[in-house]
Amino acid sequence: MRPVYFDNNATTRTDPAVVAAMLPYFSEQFGNASSAHAFGSEVAGAVRQARKSLQALLGAAFDNEIVFTSGGTESNNSAILSALDTQDDRDEIVTTAVEHPAILSLVEYLAASRGIKTHFVGVDAQGRLDIEAYRCALGSRTAIASVMSANNETGTLFPVEQLAVMAHDAGALFHTDAVQAVGKVPFDLKSTGIDMLSLSGHKLHGPKGIGGLYLRKGTPFNPLIRGGPQERRRRGGTENVPGIIGLGKAAELATARMDEEQARVRALRDRLEQGILQIGNCCVLGDVDNRLPNTSNIAFEHLEGEAIIHHLDRAGIAASLGSACASGSMEPSHVLRAMNVPMTALRGAIRFSLSRDNTIDDVVCVLNLLPEIIAKLRALSPSWQERAHITANPSRSAELTL
Ligand code: PLP
Repeated sequence: MRPVYFDNNATTRTDPAVVAAMLPYFSEQFGNASSAHAFGSEVAGAVRQARKSLQALLGAAFDNEIVFTSGGTESNNSAILSALDTQDDRDEIVTTAVEHPAILSLVEYLAASRGIKTHFVGVDAQGRLDIEAYRCALGSRTAIASVMSANNETGTLFPVEQLAVMAHDAGALFHTDAVQAVGKVPFDLKSTGIDMLSLSGHKLHGPKGIGGLYLRKGTPFNPLIRGGPQERRRRGGTENVPGIIGLGKAAELATARMDEEQARVRALRDRLEQGILQIGNCCVLGDVDNRLPNTSNIAFEHLEGEAIIHHLDRAGIAASLGSACASGSMEPSHVLRAMNVPMTALRGAIRFSLSRDNTIDDVVCVLNLLPEIIAKLRALSPSWQERAHITANPSRSAELTL
């Protein structure tokens, strides 16, 4: 049986066409894109083409609006730190309680090291942003508002175009961490007010260690990494040419196939989800009507997610416990806590994240194995046994609602 990989929000397989596009840039075309000879100029032309492919995927107005970085984390750091440097008299950040650690740990560090105040806007039980609280958090001291386009744990989509307008009304810049959304949902940045957007190659079948920061023309910017004049002086250091070529190819594939592929992925995800829900005493977390087509976060009541993941892994199935960065910490996910997921479900949440590499056979494999795993674990779960006992004794039924 081939292994089943349902952890595509952690990372995706690099597409073979992406690998093929990259290979010459490790060997024959090894030149430095900044060199003033043929070795360099050929490579510089390929880098230009990759930027154009990314521009097309994002619907950006100009190709020079994209700065290549080492990934989503660097892009997020660049955006926030630059805004604090360039927005005179403004020293506050507005973000959400459900961002990735690539934002949250930065703002925590900024609070501790520079006394920067951050407002963390909350979400409701479906993971939807509290828009009124966001409006109230924005003010004359806000340098930047940063809200993710899609949550990595639940797939919930945020109304970033509307949020950008609101940030501008308060005189602040707007950034979105779109690492999970780019390649899965369409963007047309030229028709939005988004000033900065972060993306990462390895989430869209590109290579790891390469990403991009979209920087709307005219947005003030202070580089995070200083050095040579690369990337129009916005990011020093010799370009990661094979990575850039790979990201360009991944963007080209995503642009060409997004509608058809994401419809297929959504159908597979829905089939998987409906099958799993038949097991009973489990529910889908997040905004089910407004989420990424590939993500399903399912909470199994009275179970430990770690145990489920372990059993799935032994059966050759890879899924994830909330976010990859949180797993192993034994701390319930900050995203699910912000959503006030009840204690009985909080620890049993499993994220299944699909991609174009998945097939119906993968879905059938999980649906064949998971019911038995859940039944076995519930038979061993003291809180499940307690629940069964209460259900069998109607006089104690009030305890179930606690
Ligand atoms: N932002 C989000 C929403 C993510 O899901 C991730 C990775 O999981 C990142 C940022 C970090 O991206 P990278 O791995 O490219 O640094």
